[in-house]
Amino acid sequence: MAQILDGKRVRDEILAGLAPRIQTLKRKPGLAVVLVGDNPASHVYVSSKVKTCLELGMHSEKLTPPASIATGALLDIVHDLNSNADIDGILVQMPLPAGIDSQRVLDAIAPEKDVDGFHPVNVGNLSIGRPGPRPCTPSGVMELLRRYQIPLAGKHAVVAGRSDIVGKPMAMLLLQANATVTICHSKTADLEAECRRADILVGAIGRPAMLTRAHMKPGAVMIDVGINEVRDREQAAAIFGEGSDKMSAFDKRGSVLVGDMHPYHAAEVSSFWTPVPGGVGPLTIAMLMSNTVDAAERRQ
Ligand code: NAD
Repeated sequence: MAQILDGKRVRDEILAGLAPRIQTLKRKPGLAVVLVGDNPASHVYVSSKVKTCLELGMHSEKLTPPASIATGALLDIVHDLNSNADIDGILVQMPLPAGIDSQRVLDAIAPEKDVDGFHPVNVGNLSIGRPGPRPCTPSGVMELLRRYQIPLAGKHAVVAGRSDIVGKPMAMLLLQANATVTICHSKTADLEAECRRADILVGAIGRPAMLTRAHMKPGAVMIDVGINEVRDREQAAAIFGEGSDKMSAFDKRGSVLVGDMHPYHAAEVSSFWTPVPGGVGPLTIAMLMSNTVDAAERRQ
């Protein structure tokens, strides 16, 4: 029987490990979250980030400029935060409204306060193995693998997805852990065959249940980063089956969350697997807090 990799448990362990570090700092670590406009999903993400900060006894500031803000004015906000002594980490919630130059905004964040690890300097630091903040979702996956003592050296890791925020940094982190890494993407010729070679398969595609048994080597470790909201009842029933608990939940809520991996196949075929929700998802905020505490310690 495959073992579940419990992201909530690991999140709680990570946060518990931060508490004594926060207490020994002379000043509370500070995280500023900039939320432009009123994208409802972004509001939910930002609220849970702010809430976690407060629970940990950290300082947090939430800035909410309107969607009509000009790139220049948003850059001014970022520059102010760069020079604000109370702030160790700056996060600009993506996506930004159309019309704002997202790349310029991300590039303006001081690399030492870039707790998302998206600044080109930090992307470079990751690539050459120098210290610096790492993107939160892939570094959360590494924590999960480490805490479950899943060996990586010499193993074949396949990362499906090559985004700048998940796929590419995930591949770099696995490489640094001495895995042999293959990156797959939308133009990969034979995705099934590539994925079936994986001892550790990471799904970061953004397509519900796309990776099935046909992509999975028996006994491999399945890490499902995908979080896809399925609103189509037929699609949900094709994945979970009529009469399942998930379909009862669908009928109450009108949607269900599905990862990039077929959940039943991952559970049947793998040695270890991450459920959606409750696997990789909870780790992202924990690593954001961890990056902020790291930044505060470095500044002190
Ligand atoms: P993205 O859309 O930026 O990138 C998707 C990647 O998948 C691309 O590189 C693309 O080449 C690849 N891809 C698309 N179709 C493919 C196909 N048919 N075959 C092979 N590869 C294909 O997405 P992202 O931001 O990297 O996010 C991926 C998933 O992870 C999404 O479901 C997202 O919601 C989820 N996510 C979860 C967390 C978390 O906290 N757990 C954080 C970020 C993203």
